[in-house]
Amino acid sequence: MTQTVSRPAGAPQAPLPLDVEAIRADFPILGRTVRNGRRLVYLDSGATSQKPRSVLDAERDFYENHNAAPHRGAHQLAEEATGLYEAARATIGAFIGAPENEIVFTRNTTDAINTVAYALSNAATAKEPAFRRYAVGQGDEIVVTEMEHHANLVPWQQLCERTGATLRWLGLTDDGRLDLANLATVVNDRTKLVAVTQQSNILGTINPLGDIVARAREVGALVLVDGAQSVPHQPVDVTALGADFLVFSGHKMLGPTGVGVLWGRYDVLDALPPFLTGGSMIEVVRMEGSTFMPPPQRFEAGVPMTAQVIGLGAAVEYLQRLGMDKVEAHEQALTGYALARLAEIPGVTVIGPPDTVARGGAVSFTVEGIHPHDVGQVLDDLGIAVRVGHHCAWPVVRRYGVPATTRATFYVHTGYDDIDALADGIRSAQQFFGVAAGGVS
Ligand code: PMP
Repeated sequence: MTQTVSRPAGAPQAPLPLDVEAIRADFPILGRTVRNGRRLVYLDSGATSQKPRSVLDAERDFYENHNAAPHRGAHQLAEEATGLYEAARATIGAFIGAPENEIVFTRNTTDAINTVAYALSNAATAKEPAFRRYAVGQGDEIVVTEMEHHANLVPWQQLCERTGATLRWLGLTDDGRLDLANLATVVNDRTKLVAVTQQSNILGTINPLGDIVARAREVGALVLVDGAQSVPHQPVDVTALGADFLVFSGHKMLGPTGVGVLWGRYDVLDALPPFLTGGSMIEVVRMEGSTFMPPPQRFEAGVPMTAQVIGLGAAVEYLQRLGMDKVEAHEQALTGYALARLAEIPGVTVIGPPDTVARGGAVSFTVEGIHPHDVGQVLDDLGIAVRVGHHCAWPVVRRYGVPATTRATFYVHTGYDDIDALADGIRSAQQFFGVAAGGVS
């Protein structure tokens, strides 16, 4: 595969807010080459991020020097493991402005959403009257949006199937935004919970959560915010957010796989029954029945993902050293640059907001005359990693009438050179498939 080279016309770009070269040196994987010696151009952080050395070191240090099951055992290692695990909880809580007793560790965002969805259906049959406060049943409604990742859609469909509740949703506008025209009727007195993403993983759209939270408050509904694509990329403070739950995944924010976060307002968490039950979430166990610990332990059954939590603590510290304001500004500059560079290529259509207003760095596009999987393959041959497909948000691609998209996502190590490589790669794909100037030649 040969690569055509094009450079943007016009003035040179302003320097990026983050020092990309210094940051790249922190990520061992960015030092490797792919596909016959090509530099790895990693534009798939939205699927999972790469990990800096400090995160890898924190996990290794835990296993080499402190490994034990936290909250169990009377020996020194158990004490150290508990200390490290709980210190990470405090660090991660502070990152989103939350006290540590509101931070529940889960496997990922998906697990966190299921924890809430099952708690709401378990509430209907809970023996303990205090656990019935948020029970969902027939006549109740759950509201989502057409923009949700399957992780924030399917668990709510299933909750409705289990309980007889009804799922309703807010639609999308042609330019990739939430259509709030009928917010007041879709979110109504029957609404028990509104589940909405803060930033779309496919369109990049950043949603006006203030309006949605305000409407939910008017009708007494809970609000769950999917922060899988926002918490890694912008400052998020749960007090300012005003929601009841915020969920996100460690692996998308420089942390390890296998750890996610469910933040919940303490009074709400405290009124919910558990999803998974077993060891270390109980208060008293008798053969006749058991009582449960307060949050967060009530939702952390079994030996937790200790090294991963400690690794996520290190990831948060890394992001804090960079500064989330700078991370956000960095990605906004890259997004503006990417949108401009893609706009120069005939036949490329961006699916999602066309400018950087209320928009993050997930840039999905189609190339006329070439299937997204073929675009992805040509890019991969050039060492450029992007995601192709429906991005676990099938209703979104259906809404915009495309079979799939190619998606580039950015992070702290992304530079203008990565985006230039992407633009050049798309032109190479057009050349390879004999497609030029917006049509098959
Ligand atoms: N929500 C959004 C917006 C996402 O982008 C993703 C991951 N692509 C998820 C939820 C699910 O995250 P995980 O697979 O880590 O549970």
